[in-house]
Amino acid sequence: ARAAEGTRKLAEQILAPVLSDIWDHEAPWTLESYRRAGGYRGLRVALDMAPDDVIALVKDAGLRGRGGAGFPTGMKWQFIPQGDDKPHYLVVNADESEPGTCKDIPLLFANPHSLIEGIVIACHAIRSEHAFIYLRGETVPVLRRLHHAVAEAYRAGYLGKDALGPGRDLELTVHAGAGAYICGEETALLDSLEGRRGQPRLRPPFPAVAGLYACPTVVNNVESIASVPPILARGKEWFRSMGSEKSPGFTLYSLSGHVARPGQYEGPLGITLRQLLDLTGGMRPGRTLKFWTPGGSSTPLLTAEHLDVPLDYEGVADAGSMLGTKALQCFDDTTCVVRAVTRWTEFYAHESCGKCTPCREGTFWLVQLLRDIEAGKGSMEDLDKLNDIADNINGKSFCALGDGAASPIFSSLKYFREEYERHVTGGGCPFDPALSTVWA
Ligand code: NAD
Ligand code: SF4
Repeated sequence: ARAAEGTRKLAEQILAPVLSDIWDHEAPWTLESYRRAGGYRGLRVALDMAPDDVIALVKDAGLRGRGGAGFPTGMKWQFIPQGDDKPHYLVVNADESEPGTCKDIPLLFANPHSLIEGIVIACHAIRSEHAFIYLRGETVPVLRRLHHAVAEAYRAGYLGKDALGPGRDLELTVHAGAGAYICGEETALLDSLEGRRGQPRLRPPFPAVAGLYACPTVVNNVESIASVPPILARGKEWFRSMGSEKSPGFTLYSLSGHVARPGQYEGPLGITLRQLLDLTGGMRPGRTLKFWTPGGSSTPLLTAEHLDVPLDYEGVADAGSMLGTKALQCFDDTTCVVRAVTRWTEFYAHESCGKCTPCREGTFWLVQLLRDIEAGKGSMEDLDKLNDIADNINGKSFCALGDGAASPIFSSLKYFREEYERHVTGGGCPFDPALSTVWA
């Protein structure tokens, strides 16, 4: 309800919500509720179009992948070779686990049919007859709801025999992962789906060429695919009327931390954190913003000076960070940045899959150093060592997890080196941890 209310507020001032539009309807997860709100209209439009025309429409609309990297969705679909004799697969990455990111799981919980409709459209476009949803396994209620929605879609003929037209069947398999952060990396996810231990594969070849079972595969994020049906139903100009030229459309932001009203908020790309905070009640009373992440902890930290940065791919990059998953974790002036970075780094060390040395060893040593500094047992040389180790991980690791682990180190040293030094010279943390405990 809080998400829906927050979204409504944004809607009045900025635009009508799209992805979260029916989240506060009665039982929005049912087929009946989804269809009552116009669901599966986009699919009807798509099935009357040639597959290549659907791809061209999504490409022209400018939809960019919402999983974090922002790769153009239509272009990814276009990479799937045509006229080959191998099966094509669509794999939806629902293994959401970037710290602070909480938008795909709520979307699936509230409105799984928006994803299923997008899957059918995407499979028509890339000529696939088998799609998979790889879901974070701990989210059991979401898994149940998804199974229920998939069964409804089979009964209604959106999936199964002749779903894509005469002689064109479509199967949809829901697979629950076992809760490893690395399985959100697309090639580790594919290994896991094939029944192997989830570890990243060397790219290229990208999944579009050799993905699941070595066949051409599109791997897309939940929000990316759920954004497709409205584009088909309302057109590319409508989609481009929101956001910016290079980052058009609407998106879901996960707002968390020391804010008055955390939750999921829908708005156009290019909105600023200041606008979002103004609309959602700001920071907790009496406190000011100290630092924040634009897209989870894998994206470099920004500070209160960056409140007016447009939250689109270009705007955040110009500010020295990355839009990523749009997970806006906001920390106020009671927060010790060393403590926050230590917690994140412990997470990366724990989740490192161990395949490559820079990440496996580097994240371990970062944690040792950070714990010492936090406890007042560090030295000034340790600050340079932190930077050196992060430098040996960044760009030298096998997958993006390594770069993500280095991000909070570099950016916190860039903006808050003096705070690290106070831990060294003052014999430990100058902050009261009780004050900064996150409340919601
Ligand atoms: P990437 O930029 O390497 O690739 C993005 C997508 O584009 C992939 O699907 C890839 O296959 C495709 N692609 C890129 N170049 C291609 C080419 N030449 N040919 C064909 N396909 C191509 O990014 P990545 O390593 O897949 O993902 C990193 C992102 O993941 C980060 O930006 C981070 O924000 C995000 N992330 C998200 C979560 C989450 O929970 N959603 C968790 C961790 C990281
Ligand atoms: Fe595994 Fe880390 Fe190397 Fe990625 S960077 S392959 S998670 S050890």
